[in-house]
Amino acid sequence: MNLKSFEELKLSGNLPTPAGVGMRILQLTRTENYSAEEMGEAIMADSSLTGRILKLANTASNSGMEPVTTVSGAIMRLGGRTVRDLALAFSLVSERSAGTCKGFGYEEYWSLSLARAVNAQVMTRILGCGKPEEAYICGLLGKIGRLALASVYPEVYARLIASGITDDLPLLLEREQAEFDINHAQVGACMLEEWGLPDSFGEAVEGLCSSRDLPDLDEGVTNLTAVLRFADVLARAFLADEHTPNRTWVEIGEGLELLREHLKLKPEGFIRFGDTCIKEWQAWGESLDVSVHEGLKFKMLLEQVARARKAIAEGQEERPRPKPETVQKKASSKVTEQHPVRFKILAVDDDPTTRQILVKYLEDQNYEVVEARGGKAGLKAALTHTPELVISDWQMPDMDGLELCRALRKTDAGRNMYFLMLSGHASEELVIESFEAGVDDFVTKPFIPRLLMARIKGGIRLAQLQRKIEQDKQTMMKQVAEMGVLNRKLRAASLTDALTELPNRRYCMKRLESEWASIKRTRRPLSVVMLDIDKFKSVNDEHGHDVGDIVLKETADVLRDSVRASDEICRLGGEEFLIIAKNTDEENCAVVAERVRAAMESHVIDHPGFERAVTVSLGIACSSDGHESVHSLLKAADEAVYLAKESGRNQVRKATELGAKKKSA
Ligand code: GH3
Ligand code: MG
Ligand code: MG
Repeated sequence: MNLKSFEELKLSGNLPTPAGVGMRILQLTRTENYSAEEMGEAIMADSSLTGRILKLANTASNSGMEPVTTVSGAIMRLGGRTVRDLALAFSLVSERSAGTCKGFGYEEYWSLSLARAVNAQVMTRILGCGKPEEAYICGLLGKIGRLALASVYPEVYARLIASGITDDLPLLLEREQAEFDINHAQVGACMLEEWGLPDSFGEAVEGLCSSRDLPDLDEGVTNLTAVLRFADVLARAFLADEHTPNRTWVEIGEGLELLREHLKLKPEGFIRFGDTCIKEWQAWGESLDVSVHEGLKFKMLLEQVARARKAIAEGQEERPRPKPETVQKKASSKVTEQHPVRFKILAVDDDPTTRQILVKYLEDQNYEVVEARGGKAGLKAALTHTPELVISDWQMPDMDGLELCRALRKTDAGRNMYFLMLSGHASEELVIESFEAGVDDFVTKPFIPRLLMARIKGGIRLAQLQRKIEQDKQTMMKQVAEMGVLNRKLRAASLTDALTELPNRRYCMKRLESEWASIKRTRRPLSVVMLDIDKFKSVNDEHGHDVGDIVLKETADVLRDSVRASDEICRLGGEEFLIIAKNTDEENCAVVAERVRAAMESHVIDHPGFERAVTVSLGIACSSDGHESVHSLLKAADEAVYLAKESGRNQVRKATELGAKKKSA
């Protein structure tokens, strides 16, 4: 595998990357030991991602099993690794944007990828080979290498597409290799590896991209690559339409027939299978906001295959109408043989004959040439056209070559241009002087064309290199800046509870530990109020989880309104909250807690069908009660809550009421 080229692709900064949550998940998995809880938390920060994972966990499970309703449930059912991989794949789909590569067909790309994913998943289930979720992920990311190349080299890739070779897989791979030193099959595998997905995924994806050969019947569909290839044929059938050439339909038809035999299905069973795949594709399309073919039936596809076969047998229509939106100007085959980028050269000379000769030679070499008839015009042209290379005569009336070079070197744009000086006479002194002025190379007139062209080539290479280094530096700086922003966002997200937007348990523990350290020095009291909603389970049971969530949010609002500015509120989890009251003794803390209790009791939650207040039980503990650690303080507050519950709920109790108790953790 061409790792060097992949590193270069990475440096471009344009490779598709997973969105925020996906990034967080990647970071988590790169640390050695992350917990399933942390993974769950990261995923839950994105509610639509959570929904997608649950959906897949439920479609993957056998009928008769209880539906999974939580991310932790999904992790238990599918395994942590699978959930992680799914989250990654989904976050990539949601990050997609119409890219800049002309003719790439981004909508179609994701639609096809989704169809491949769903088909691979359904096939794995039927064939009983491998894990359906893994097949789904590999299907979804199966052609990510193409997207990556189109993202990094939009112009060159657009030309490949325009030349109409993308359907000829071996030729496409060959051209990619020639243009980029790496092909989309390898890029895809490298990217999956980069994201920490299992090696087998990268191999399957590389296998999918490197050939369309389908396994024979006696070979069987035994590995992921084989599954993906069939899934791809089926997906192409879903996306084919009346603009698809007959010979493509026939090829698809052969693939489908082979698949039917592999699946050992009768024609009716095969149609049911196809319709299942289509239905899942449509459902996923809706939830991922990817366009799909509405109203498609598998039977219609088989009929289209039959029509195409008949048309070909009767020698009809070999030139299909091109698709309206993908009509491209036929690129002449010559274009791809030229330089991928045309380099620009500025020729400065006051003598029209020399200029003409120069221009002719340069244009013959396929360089783009700009002319200027003197130093001043040359300076202006250099700054307007920013050529890679400047060839200048030495002696010119208005501004000589040396002055031109010095002037250019003082500008940002001109600093890195390769400057080649032409001169009729070249004494040692003159050559030294010109190098000191910043000239890169020196050629005497009359020049030998081949020699001059060779030196120009070398100069261009150097100028390109310098330009690339400059770009890389900027990209790197941009990436570093972006990572900084992302890290800050993620840090904030990982310390905040998504539902109530209150600080979460992790923040709470950090905060308490740091307060604990400071009260050891200051000897000031620190109190906490632990709060638990009364009979909350019955709210969920009677009114549903959504109403339960509203109650939690409103409780958070009431808490925010009824504590003092210096108090901090956190959601510990479920329906438990904690108030951290700094510099507050037990008595003063009881005043705060009572205010909260009364506020909750009188706050009617105004939701259709609910319309009532909920009460809370509160427990207070204070550091001055001889606690030795945060843990002991929290345990005491928890016991006080328990006391409040036992005594009838909707009340405040203090840990000191509990009598003789162990105070050390
Ligand atoms: P008690 O008065 O003894 O505290 O009774 P309770 O029903 O409040 O206590 P229990 O701990 O049995 O129930 C807590 C419920 O909170 C169970 C759980 O389903 C629900 N729950 C936990 N987190 C959430 C959440 O984020 N949203 C919703 N809607 N419910 C949640
Ligand atoms: Mg409760
Ligand atoms: Mg509880």
